[in-house]
Amino acid sequence: MSNYLNLACPVCRNTESQPFIEISQIPVYCNILWDTAGGAKSAPRGDMQLAFCDRCGHIFNTRFDSRLMDYNQSYENSLHHSPRFQAYATNLVHEWVERFDIRQKNIVEIGAGQGDFLQMMCQAGSNRGVGFDPSTLPKEDLPEYLSFIPDYYTEKYAAYPADVLLCRHVLEHIENAGEFVGMVRRVIGSRSKTTALFEVPNVLWTVRELGIWDIIYEHCGYFSPYSLSHVFRQNRFHVGRVNTVFGGQFLTIEAFPAEAATPRPDDHAQGIASLAADVDRFSAAFAEKMAAWQERFATLRQNHQKAVIWGAGSKGVTFLNMLNPQGVVEYAVDINPRKKGMFVAGMGQQIVDPTFLRTYQPDVVIIMNHNYEQEISQTLQELDVSATILVA
Ligand SMILES: [Zn+2]
Repeated sequence: MSNYLNLACPVCRNTESQPFIEISQIPVYCNILWDTAGGAKSAPRGDMQLAFCDRCGHIFNTRFDSRLMDYNQSYENSLHHSPRFQAYATNLVHEWVERFDIRQKNIVEIGAGQGDFLQMMCQAGSNRGVGFDPSTLPKEDLPEYLSFIPDYYTEKYAAYPADVLLCRHVLEHIENAGEFVGMVRRVIGSRSKTTALFEVPNVLWTVRELGIWDIIYEHCGYFSPYSLSHVFRQNRFHVGRVNTVFGGQFLTIEAFPAEAATPRPDDHAQGIASLAADVDRFSAAFAEKMAAWQERFATLRQNHQKAVIWGAGSKGVTFLNMLNPQGVVEYAVDINPRKKGMFVAGMGQQIVDPTFLRTYQPDVVIIMNHNYEQEISQTLQELDVSATILVA
């Protein structure tokens, strides 16, 4: 464990947050793949200690060290390649454009990535967009309504007109979310008609569905609807709807500038108390789930059986790094041809395509997402692989 420790809640500054889980030395980037096993094993690592703040309902990594992170690297949010995610984004664009009549407006997107969502927002309402993100690659032939600044968004960009401020899947990466939202509010200043639309992963889903392989170092903050609302209200915003979306996995929030901090809705105290109970159960369930997998791997090792994992995305990488199944799992299968031949950060398993299994003939295939069980089972049949399927 590193000595780095910050117990103050980054949303409400409460210093009496309760640590409830420790995960030591996991790779700081799950989605960067390596050319060699040696390189993969030497991937930079960090420690996690998750703490729960019962004042605002936030969960955060007390040991997050932002100096380990560098989003200038070839950082990519892999979700954008999934058809399900694409369909979801299209719906969200139309909902927001209709609901807030975002037409002929100026949109600023903070953390625009490669700009796909911003472009959709512009096209859907004849809007003009400026995207800020240090990882945006230079683009040619951009339509005149769209531009990108390859930098972090700060107050020095306050002069860019913004009727709408978009920020999706960014806040959970920022160590001091309170300060960041405060900066956004200062940028808005007296432009009282501005609408802020943010989206983050929903920690209620992680905690209630026991999504332990979704806990990654890159995410230092884990928002509940209560802490997400809190961080805006205390930074002089009115909060409109906080919606649970994408099958419960994400939250969106609509916020509008206010003169002063705004009060907490009556039902939040009860919601936070119920989350506290979930967090208590989560610690025990986490330990149980880890122990069950350790036992399974010990048995496989004893019987000289081979297992592979199916899916070398962040869930798979987290699974391997938390459990360290040395001598049992030597390969990770992935259907993405760009990953073939690369190595998993931290553990160094080589990534192979499904056809590799025809000759390898594993005894067990561990799949990372039960949504794909049927599809994978069929592929295994076609490859004449009669392995047992386990869901992580
Ligand atoms: Zn708090």
